Amino acid sequence: MSNSPGYKRAANLAVNQFKEWGLENVVLEPWGEFGRGWELNKSYIAMTKPYYLSFIAVPKAWSNSSDGIVNGKVKFLNLSSETDFEKYKGKLKGAIILLKPDSLIIGIQGGNPQPNFKADAIRFTEEELKEKEIATSSPSRFTPEQMTKLKANRKLNQKISKFLTDEGVAMIVRGTSGRHGTLFTSSNRSGYLKDSPKGICEIDLAPEHFNLMLRLVENNVDVEIEAEVKTTFYEDDLQGYNVIAEIPGSDKKLKSEVVMLGGHLDSWHGATGATDNAAGCIVMMEAVRILKATGLQPKRTIRIALWGSEEQGIHGSRNYVKNHFGDPKTKIIKPEHEKISAYYNIDNGTGRIRGIYLQGNESVRPIFEQWFTPFEDMIDHTTLTITDTGGTDHLAFDAIGIPGFQFIQDQIEYRSRTHHTNMDTYERLVIDDLKQMAVIVASFVYHTAQRDEKLPREQMEEYKSE
Ligand SMILES: [Zn+2]
Repeated sequence: MSNSPGYKRAANLAVNQFKEWGLENVVLEPWGEFGRGWELNKSYIAMTKPYYLSFIAVPKAWSNSSDGIVNGKVKFLNLSSETDFEKYKGKLKGAIILLKPDSLIIGIQGGNPQPNFKADAIRFTEEELKEKEIATSSPSRFTPEQMTKLKANRKLNQKISKFLTDEGVAMIVRGTSGRHGTLFTSSNRSGYLKDSPKGICEIDLAPEHFNLMLRLVENNVDVEIEAEVKTTFYEDDLQGYNVIAEIPGSDKKLKSEVVMLGGHLDSWHGATGATDNAAGCIVMMEAVRILKATGLQPKRTIRIALWGSEEQGIHGSRNYVKNHFGDPKTKIIKPEHEKISAYYNIDNGTGRIRGIYLQGNESVRPIFEQWFTPFEDMIDHTTLTITDTGGTDHLAFDAIGIPGFQFIQDQIEYRSRTHHTNMDTYERLVIDDLKQMAVIVASFVYHTAQRDEKLPREQMEEYKSE
């Protein structure tokens, strides 16, 4: 998690590894204020009545500790709007509250926990890749109506947390999405901001266990649970950090220019974050190790970045771009803006590269087609799509007119099982796919470093120099 002791261990591990490989200018670079670090120290929850059953659960990120061991009867609340608060006022002190998950969220992540007749792990079929090839715009993930509903739900959820905290409840237990022991974790939204209240203990529970309690309650059976959560907030250093390292360029004229590659180092707390996004980090690290080991002398400087706080809003890369290249809000650019050729990102899990999103930049198509040619036998139907993809760190570069790309990767179990879940562990990695990615990325980065010109940029917006 961002700013946790675990994040610092991971960042230091990367720093030491880069130094050992002989990279230069290796730094833990602060990007600005993130907020509180947080760590989970203990989490236990089980049903004790009408019979004992151990539960699969993960406290929400930035959840507060419980007041020791909490036990007692659960109370199910149906809070669909603020007007529902009134009937519970003054009646909830010390209660253990059950709240249903958001049906829209379940539709997006992991689906319902009923038997699933589709494979968890999937690769793109040739037909699907052909569809991507001819697409002119990326299908939006949400309809405008869904987007409005999501935003409204988010607001309501914050109000619910505040209302229940003020009422002095002992704990909130929320159903979440997932199945078969996999559950999607999330955060107590703004809990990391230094001035936001720390709230109370909130636990996300595997849907099967949540639904079981709900069925019992609906059938007028008293349900009791026992739970204890211990967490620590870290507030002495609120800065966020990225890990940066370089292979310096060798060409007199071009060494002042850079090619960047990266992925985010932070992840969620339910597991080790193997596919989201240790996979991206180790692929990018392996790519620079390969380049270093070949002894090739790149003309331009190659700079790797492992970003912090992607999961809370792409903060690490956005602020790095703001500090070095320019601010997309003011459209004021810095001198370094002219000195970067491209940024390459990996953050779609363990799946091998099947092509690249051109992010609307048609002029790079023939260049990338050529660079993909030697890898035809490792890719199978190499796909270049003019469309964008979102949700990760290349957006920070794209936002200020710097060519920034995320590769098309096979999904494997990313949406069904791994990203943001309690099962995102080493077992979920497909090592051969990671090797394929590292080799292709190393080649793309090297070609970008050697090219006479920087990569062509999209039609530039009006920027002012600082
Ligand atoms: Zn990610």
